[in-house]
Amino acid sequence: MIYTVLNLFRTTSNPCKCCDTWLDHWKNNAGQKDPVCAYKDCQKQATAGSHVTRDNSDFFWYIIPLCDEHLKARDVFEIKSKMIKIKKLEGCKRTN
Ligand SMILES: [Zn+2]
Ligand SMILES: [Zn+2]
Repeated sequence: MIYTVLNLFRTTSNPCKCCDTWLDHWKNNAGQKDPVCAYKDCQKQATAGSHVTRDNSDFFWYIIPLCDEHLKARDVFEIKSKMIKIKKLEGCKRTN
C-alpha cells in the first residue's frame, strides 16, 4: 500500500512527550533503528521525524522519518515507510 502524505510545518516545534524526539518515537514503534527517509525514492539517512497527514484521507497526524531535503517538501508525496501515530504507543519509552 502506497500512502500519499503532506508535511505539517507548524507542528515541528512541539516536543514529543513520550520519547526523546519524534524520530525516536517513530523508531521505537516501527522497530527500526536507522531508518532511511520515507520519501518514495530517497535512500538518504532520516534526520528527523516529521508530522504528516494523509492526503484525501483521515485527519489523524502521523510521524514519518525524513532526510533534511524532504523535511522541506511542500507538495504531497508518496512514502515507502510506515506511518506511526503521534499518540503514546506500546513502544514508547516513557510511561508517565
Ligand atoms: Zn513515543
Ligand atoms: Zn529524503
